[in-house]
Amino acid sequence: MNVRERARQYYQGNKEKVKQQSREYYRLNRASILARMRARYYLLNNYPELGGRNLLSLGELSEHQRGGHRKRRLELINRMGGKCIRCGFDDWRALQVDHINGGGAKDRCKTASPLVYLKKIEENKADYQLLCANCNWIKKYENEESAQKRID
Ligand SMILES: [Zn+2]
Repeated sequence: MNVRERARQYYQGNKEKVKQQSREYYRLNRASILARMRARYYLLNNYPELGGRNLLSLGELSEHQRGGHRKRRLELINRMGGKCIRCGFDDWRALQVDHINGGGAKDRCKTASPLVYLKKIEENKADYQLLCANCNWIKKYENEESAQKRID
């Protein structure tokens, strides 16, 4: 009998006791349980490129470490000129680091965490440029069009 089966058997035999215990656990640890749920929800929304991977370990990142991610992103944007290279838009919330030769999404999937991704960009700055969200989308359409022309 493995651990899981044993746990199930124990639960069957002690339903009320187990329920009581988990209620008690929730009552005593409510704040940290909710904080962890919020952290996981935050990660699902902000790092969809992780596709659910590493969510548990990232969910356990401290507030300080997550703050470090934003700080690093801001520093990187500043070092790359702080504005869109096409139109000059300079609100960091809509600025995106773009891989000059495309393949940005593939890039992101391969690296395990946003911090690793930022580090990689810093080490290969010549391959990246700063675009606002609008220009980034426009560039994607332009690239698709030129790819189509090549096929025709
Ligand atoms: Zn722009």
